[in-house]
Amino acid sequence: MAKQDWQKKAAEWLRGRNGSDELGICVSLVALILVIVNIFLNSFIISVIALVLIGYTFWRSASRNLEARENENGVFCEFLGPVRPWVRNPVQAFSEARAYRHFKCPECGQRVRVPRGKGKVRVRCPKCSTKFDARS
Ligand SMILES: [Zn+2]
Repeated sequence: MAKQDWQKKAAEWLRGRNGSDELGICVSLVALILVIVNIFLNSFIISVIALVLIGYTFWRSASRNLEARENENGVFCEFLGPVRPWVRNPVQAFSEARAYRHFKCPECGQRVRVPRGKGKVRVRCPKCSTKFDARS
């Protein structure tokens, strides 16, 4: 009962706000690593940096300027490239990586996934219809 209440309030607060995205997740991970490292180093500067990063994450998730936050996250996701699913949902990315192999189309660069364990297969790119051989 109390937990549902809390979730409802959180959902209400998040409405129309940015919430968590890849950039937010990565920045808070960096902050967490800094906090852990700082247990040993006990540096004032590192704790200030970690606090600023945590503050930035909160500010981004609370922001109502969705367009600007989406643009920032888009640039960041481009930078992440194939690492992106591992940031967004590591559990799902892990089962995906176990079940499929990913290839890049030699013609257009489109990412193609093939079920693992099928041996040598001929892959047809869904975007440009180029065919290429791959070992799954
Ligand atoms: Zn292609």
